[in-house]
Amino acid sequence: MKKLLTTILAVLMLCLALPASTEPAEDAETLRSALQEKYGISIRMGDECREDPSGSFQTVITPEGDTAFQQMVYGNRRFLDFLRLLDDTLSAYPPDFFSCFRLTRNYGGLKFLLVDDILRDGVSLGGFQSGADPDGKIRIWLSRTNAKERAIHHEIGHAMDYRIRWKYPDAFDDWYRLNPEDFLYTGDFSGTGEGNEEPDDWFVREYSKIDEYEDRATIFEALMTKDDAWWETRPYLRRKAELFLEKARPVFGDLPTPK
Ligand SMILES: [Zn+2]
Repeated sequence: MKKLLTTILAVLMLCLALPASTEPAEDAETLRSALQEKYGISIRMGDECREDPSGSFQTVITPEGDTAFQQMVYGNRRFLDFLRLLDDTLSAYPPDFFSCFRLTRNYGGLKFLLVDDILRDGVSLGGFQSGADPDGKIRIWLSRTNAKERAIHHEIGHAMDYRIRWKYPDAFDDWYRLNPEDFLYTGDFSGTGEGNEEPDDWFVREYSKIDEYEDRATIFEALMTKDDAWWETRPYLRRKAELFLEKARPVFGDLPTPK
């Protein structure tokens, strides 16, 4: 009897370890290869991200399964939906857009690192961009559990900003002129600043007031996600958006069109 129970249990565990039959045929590896080819980018998932430095951010990578067998069966499947979201988001960008990141010192192009979660001071983040690394590589880290379309555009906005200043270091020297007189960025990352989403005409949200980089990244995400009616009532923000696009054009050529 005990042996029978053990056998049943073993069969049950094996069934649990196998992919459900309702799972679509597409697998994460195939989709990853297709996206790398389609957009000229590099994508790393889960364990593969451990090789890259993540600075002061804590990246969480969940073990895929308890056993080597389960890891073999599951692979990177937990990233499948996330890869689909990435594809959906990147489809708004012109075909050659990401080739601007493919330079001699950054051969693989813009690198997207997909991890299960990202923490900073115990706060869970959608993503971050590490562009200032001495090796010249621009990396976008995204959290599988937290990153939404807006966060992906936001991090691409940071990467664009970095790429623009890489070519034209003084591109945004006059940026502060577009802010209210006497305004000073808070420099405070401790709060997420999500409480007040649309504080005034000068900034997209509270988070934009941290520094000029967050200001521009939130403007870019707003360009990709807000409609004309939203922009029409914000002339000061439009001036900032126009300056960002003006500086982006000579570097990137065609710019993405919001959906
Ligand atoms: Zn940011």
